[in-house]
Amino acid sequence: MSFVFPPPAAVGLAIEGSDDLFPVRRVYCVGRNYAAHAREMGFDPDREPPFFFCKPGDDASVVPVPAGRTAAIPYPALTASYHYEAELVVAIGEGGRDIAVEDAVRHIHGYAVGLDMTRRDLQMKMREQGRPWEIGKAFDFSAPVGPLRLRGASGEMKAGAITLEVDGELRQKSDIRQLIWSVGEVIANLSTLFALQPGDLVFTGTPEGVGAVQRGQTLTVRIDGLAPIAVRVE
Ligand code: MN
Repeated sequence: MSFVFPPPAAVGLAIEGSDDLFPVRRVYCVGRNYAAHAREMGFDPDREPPFFFCKPGDDASVVPVPAGRTAAIPYPALTASYHYEAELVVAIGEGGRDIAVEDAVRHIHGYAVGLDMTRRDLQMKMREQGRPWEIGKAFDFSAPVGPLRLRGASGEMKAGAITLEVDGELRQKSDIRQLIWSVGEVIANLSTLFALQPGDLVFTGTPEGVGAVQRGQTLTVRIDGLAPIAVRVE
């Protein structure tokens, strides 16, 4: 027996200090995980359980951004409000379900800088109608991710500045310690809903300051302790 056409290969994320690649399986994203961002989206940031949405983990959606180079992504179709969201990305190295908060860290293979690119107008329309967010969130080229830093090199990341610049102008600035649900709590909660597997990525949410990006602009995202990423919209 053979496949009727070649099955797609996994996206491989670069790992700092290694020639090996991290194969991506699924992409989970946390919604409204910084209070100031919840407020700017029109919500009261009380500590409701975190909520999740997904992006495809395939090579159409996930864009590995090499260290020290600017990746290009196309401006997507059918939007007039294409937004950036700078996020800490957690790479799962050991799977599990019903993971305890205090055990969560050992399931983390490494960390990276990511962008949860969003067709905000389509997302808002779906939100108003109580419909799924996929057309606003899960489109092609919607998940640029930088190189992984292994947890052994970074240590457990609980704090660190996160910033996003558009053409060198600061637009988002916060700190990982401002996460409403910590990385450990996110992993614990997510693992009650889905059996996590090695290769899963978790986008942990964006701070305040989200906004639109235009063709020709370059997004630069930095998180203390991780390789920065630069992405140009074409
Ligand atoms: Mn997001």
